[in-house]
Amino acid sequence: FEKLKEGLRKSRETFFNQITKILRSRRLDEDTKAEIEELLISADVGVEATEYIIKRLEEAKPEDTFGTLKEILIEILSKPNGLNIPAQKPFVISMVGVNGSGKTTTCGKLAAMFREEGKQVVIGACDTFRAAAIDQLRIWAERAGATFIAHMEGADAAAVAFDAVNHAISKSKDVVILDTAGRLHNKRHLMEELAKINRVIKKVLPEAPHEVLLVIDAVTGQNGLQQAKIFREIVGVTGIVLTKLDGTAKGGIAIAIAKELGIPIKFIGVGEGLEDLKPFDPRDFVEALLA
Ligand code: GDP
Repeated sequence: FEKLKEGLRKSRETFFNQITKILRSRRLDEDTKAEIEELLISADVGVEATEYIIKRLEEAKPEDTFGTLKEILIEILSKPNGLNIPAQKPFVISMVGVNGSGKTTTCGKLAAMFREEGKQVVIGACDTFRAAAIDQLRIWAERAGATFIAHMEGADAAAVAFDAVNHAISKSKDVVILDTAGRLHNKRHLMEELAKINRVIKKVLPEAPHEVLLVIDAVTGQNGLQQAKIFREIVGVTGIVLTKLDGTAKGGIAIAIAKELGIPIKFIGVGEGLEDLKPFDPRDFVEALLA
């Protein structure tokens, strides 16, 4: 919790502390409502969620607006936030998101988390577009103690995915993490590539991928939300990983994502290290934001 609290320090100190102070010391009149509204928007909570929050605050008992705010935020953020782990291994996770969002780093962090649980992990380098990206992922796989499956630069992404899943099946590995390409500027091509990866791995494992995790950089705020809408359209996203929360004061983007996308946040990134990925817990998150 302390790490989470530190990760959310900027968001807390810049915006949410002020909201806390207002709700704890003043009546909810038109002025305070306008101030809270502005703070929520500035924190990237988004118009839709902000309007909803204000409406609910108006209905709250005047002496308990702060407690009510906490409960509303927790309610918005609470979706089924856990992983869809299948009864039979391997558990296949496809990682999607634009370049720079923290996808490669998150693959390494996730692998490390599963390794901590004693699981055997395979990482597949399905972003074959740049050799540097493959090398970087290799370093993360080594750090995390995961088996690394890659082909040459420019190779067929689906062939890499196929090899990674097959390797996991034949060696009884627990988890497969596929790092996919994130060049959103060629939407049709990306859609075809992701669809082909899915098609090919389903040949050996019909239920796979069990999770498609979309990595969003919290620093990009509302822009990241727009990207998320595009990914939701081109591939069935099952969960969000919100990275770089430590690098922004606009942690309210988590609330906008939950409210507007209806996709559960499953993990958050609060730093660059291997251990800086946390399973998302709505209550802890809100407690850290409003602490
Ligand atoms: P990719 O292009 O999506 O694969 O992005 P990378 O994984 O290479 O990450 C891009 C940059 O973001 C790197 O410098 C990472 O160290 C950094 N990064 C990733 N996740 C986090 C995070 O949770 N917090 C911070 N502060 N930096 C992060």
